[in-house]
Amino acid sequence: MIKLSEPKRIQQLDEFTIGHIAAGEVVERPAQVVKELLENALDASSTSIHVEIERGGFDLIRIEDNGSGIHENDLQLALSRHATSKLRQPEDLNEIHTLGFRGEALASIGVVSRLTVASRPEGQEGRSIAMEDGIKGSIKPTGMANGTVVTVEHLFQNTPVRLGFQRRPATEHARIVEVVVAHAIAHPSVAFRCTIDGRSTLNLPSSSSIEDRLYDVLGGQSSNLLVLAPPANDADVPGDESWTGYISAPDISRGKGDEIHIFVNDRPVASTPFHQAIRRGYRTRLMQGRHPVAVLHLRVPANEVDVNVHPTKREVRLRHSWRVLERLERAIANTLATSPTQPDSSGELQELEGLAQSEQNQPIQELLMPVDKEVQGQKQSTAPPWALTAGTQLNLVGQVADEAVELTEKPRPQSIAASAQKSLPGLSSTPVAPALSHEERDLHRHAGCGGSVSPTAESPLVGGEYNLPAMEPLSQFADSYILAQAGEELLLIDQHALHERIRYERLRNDESLWTPQPRLVPSRIELTLAQQARMESFLDRFQELGFLLEKQGDGQWDVTQAPRLLDGDEVEPFLLDLLQDISEDGAPLETIERRKDHLAFLNACRGAVKANDTLTIAQMRRLLEDMRNVPNPWACVHGRPTALRLPLDSLDKHFGRHG
Ligand code: ADP
Ligand code: MG
Repeated sequence: MIKLSEPKRIQQLDEFTIGHIAAGEVVERPAQVVKELLENALDASSTSIHVEIERGGFDLIRIEDNGSGIHENDLQLALSRHATSKLRQPEDLNEIHTLGFRGEALASIGVVSRLTVASRPEGQEGRSIAMEDGIKGSIKPTGMANGTVVTVEHLFQNTPVRLGFQRRPATEHARIVEVVVAHAIAHPSVAFRCTIDGRSTLNLPSSSSIEDRLYDVLGGQSSNLLVLAPPANDADVPGDESWTGYISAPDISRGKGDEIHIFVNDRPVASTPFHQAIRRGYRTRLMQGRHPVAVLHLRVPANEVDVNVHPTKREVRLRHSWRVLERLERAIANTLATSPTQPDSSGELQELEGLAQSEQNQPIQELLMPVDKEVQGQKQSTAPPWALTAGTQLNLVGQVADEAVELTEKPRPQSIAASAQKSLPGLSSTPVAPALSHEERDLHRHAGCGGSVSPTAESPLVGGEYNLPAMEPLSQFADSYILAQAGEELLLIDQHALHERIRYERLRNDESLWTPQPRLVPSRIELTLAQQARMESFLDRFQELGFLLEKQGDGQWDVTQAPRLLDGDEVEPFLLDLLQDISEDGAPLETIERRKDHLAFLNACRGAVKANDTLTIAQMRRLLEDMRNVPNPWACVHGRPTALRLPLDSLDKHFGRHG
């Protein structure tokens, strides 16, 4: 019998295995290799760097620089683990001034590829050394210009497990361009070129100003960015760190945070740890789930930042992180407060202004609970898919924007039947529905709820009958509510909420709205270099979705075909969001559904009748008929109730007709 408790004996791993383990962390994917090699080129004070990629970097990564080069006696060492020219003693770790310092990159890359390093310092001859699967070759003379050329071939071919987890070459191309772009923003004076599968995808001349570099990288949108302006008294705050950079006005936003570039002492770092501070700086100006475009440079004394916390150095630790983040927040808030922005457009929200703010946020599921189980057939506790989508978009469930809802009252038409009426028993004085959240108001604003479409001018809603009683319009109250008789009940229906809901169902389910339609006048959109790289990688996907795009050069693209529903000015935000969402491998399908929901939602609001719109009986009748084809018609798109129901029974009780 095997003794289970017998200890397994410990063994010192051999160098080769150790190398493989280390390589696992440092070189996770081709873009990571490019990042390490770029860092080396920049550390060598290069002023011109050329990146060449073939098949996502799996076949070839070649980086040529004109930097200081490697002494021929050091070539062997350069490929050894923990051998570096950037550190001498442990104390040096406290103050890192170079991008690299771990001395692992070349050694790790050489374990999982065929690596060649050729180098020629000024005044010396060129020499090269190769390393394959971790085995170093001998040093050979080679003819070359001053600088260093590193070539990586057959990446991960000896590591099938790693290879199996790799993304498509197209995805990797996009990621590689992002890596190069990040470094290019950090080092405007260095010229960068990037050639992918023989095509030149990026050609950035050396520029003396960061503005020029930003223009080259981000295109025209860079001129809309605001210069980060910390408050005047910020210098008095303790601390030697400072922030400079550019941020977008709140009306330019993205669905993801990947157009936020953060640099700590010129090192591109992951931006996520900074998102919260940035969002706080924007206060309530940004919609939930939206992110600004930003290029932010933090200068901090080298001994106040620990770069040695992550093998790929994507994350750094700041000694006074709290103070640094607060400084950023202040700088953003001050920038926005001091730059002229567009006046708050309002005036389209009156229809929902009568609602007071409820004390607590009701979860959307609760709001969506059928009012009466006889009507809906059965009580459901889960919201229908559309509501869940709307809910996640609008964050009705989670925290509502912390801004107080301040709304201006527009005089409403008075009803003539003006006897002093007390509220009915059971008609609670606390609102059933929460007030419009900040996000919803933004959506309404964005939808520019312009003219309304007459319900009778629209095609009848078809679809399942949802077991509603027959309803007969009686009249309209305050030009905002429809009074309807439904069997033994009097219904008070919010006309805007109902129409919006009906339009939403129609738009969401009408697939023909999503059919591709050629545009006589193409929409011109402008893409950043990184976006262009992604677009080129995913052109076929976009075509599947109904878009045809033609590259016009200089970052300009013409959209010559797009889904029918998309208005001219909706094409660009839709495409940009999509572009971000498919930048990594995730299939875009889920995104598409979400975007479709979002658009249907905007358009639903746009054409819906408003409060204060006088309706004819025919129009009311039509709304009530359509209501019968809406699943769960008792909630509007925002999860608020559409109707108040007054059963005859309760009225009788109220007026003492019972017993
Ligand atoms: P690290 O950058 O952390 O020092 P690497 O493995 O990336 O470790 O590189 C090892 C050494 O090789 C570096 O310290 C540097 O001296 C030298 N080296 C690598 N690439 C270049 C380059 N492109 N130009 C000049 N020297 C380089
Ligand atoms: Mg390095």
